[in-house]
Amino acid sequence: MSTEHALLHLLKKLQSLEASRDRLKIAESVVIAALEILEAKFAILHGFRATAEGYGATPLAWAVSPTESATTNLDHLDFEESHLDAQPIFEQAILTPEGYACEDIDGHHVLAFSIGPFGAPVAMVEVHCDEPPNPALRSCVHELLSIYSEHLGLLDYAELDTLTRLHNRKTFDENFDRFIGLAEQARIREEEGSGQNASDGRFCWLGVVDIDKFKRINDNFGHLFGDEVLIRIADLMKKSFRSNDKLFRFGGEEFVVLLRFVTAEHAIMIFERFRIAVEQHEFPQVGQVTCSLGYVQIDPVLTPGEILSRADEALYYCKANGRNQIQRYETLVEKGLIAPPVAAEVNHADVQADIDALFD
Ligand code: GH3
Ligand code: MG
Ligand code: MG
Repeated sequence: MSTEHALLHLLKKLQSLEASRDRLKIAESVVIAALEILEAKFAILHGFRATAEGYGATPLAWAVSPTESATTNLDHLDFEESHLDAQPIFEQAILTPEGYACEDIDGHHVLAFSIGPFGAPVAMVEVHCDEPPNPALRSCVHELLSIYSEHLGLLDYAELDTLTRLHNRKTFDENFDRFIGLAEQARIREEEGSGQNASDGRFCWLGVVDIDKFKRINDNFGHLFGDEVLIRIADLMKKSFRSNDKLFRFGGEEFVVLLRFVTAEHAIMIFERFRIAVEQHEFPQVGQVTCSLGYVQIDPVLTPGEILSRADEALYYCKANGRNQIQRYETLVEKGLIAPPVAAEVNHADVQADIDALFD
């Protein structure tokens, strides 16, 4: 692609990028632009975050040439997080002031572009080309990615909680609707039976987390230490869950987790792992803090309000029965420990009105 052509392409991409708030759509648009401008074979955008071992990279969107479309449908591919030691080129891109690195790997020219502040990337774009990339085109992609990074910063400002950097309450409804849509797709796949698209008993889940006796922490140590506990619990959440899952600060010391496509056995393990991580963490000055978590399978037949209140019921059960535990709503109902859901009462007046309308 000529540089003029690439610039025109870039401007068009910028227009669509600035109009969108959907991070996955933006990620798709960015990988397609990188692929086309560099005439590459393959481009992938990884979300990046700090982990105990360095950085964890999670694929968010990728595109293969020729670019019919990019895909972000990675849910069922079960990518495991890769770590930096497996990707030395990422490390190079993070450490060079230019923010990108190029290396020949097995006869391919592989480029890595670091996105975000110097030394602390929020994402990484990896591009594989057959030919050595033209430096002018490489700069075009680099500029596009800088603008992408600024756009992400603006989105974060509007959508993230300032204390914990988790998603704020305002963004919950649309994310929850999206998860209910995913759960509906999984239900359809399950009904269609086995085969390539079967959901393999994997579902979406909603968990509500509430810190135990948090008021006492504030009263004994002051709000600043209380805030520090909130920040650290949010960090433990970011480490315990995958970046494909969604984490929200819902209220003062209440958090919500939307867990994407795992089996019931895995859901219990994942939530329990988080509870243990909190229990074992040494909080400055405060010492040990525990939390309780109620969760429920996202059943697309229910309303969002019903799903949330079921997880809340499981949480109340934890609080009333010793705290520092996780409980699943359906299990509590099965064991007779909480009341089963009341079947929606048929409103006879409405039924009669419908019948009357038929004969009008
Ligand atoms: P339980 O185990 O039953 O959940 O007890 P609790 O004390 O955690 O529950 P409660 O809901 O009574 O207390 C929540 C407290 O959270 C009350 C409020 O002072 C505190 N809080 C809410 N938002 C913030 C915040 O942003 N920072 C700090 N430091 N405290 C907050
Ligand atoms: Mg509370
Ligand atoms: Mg509490």
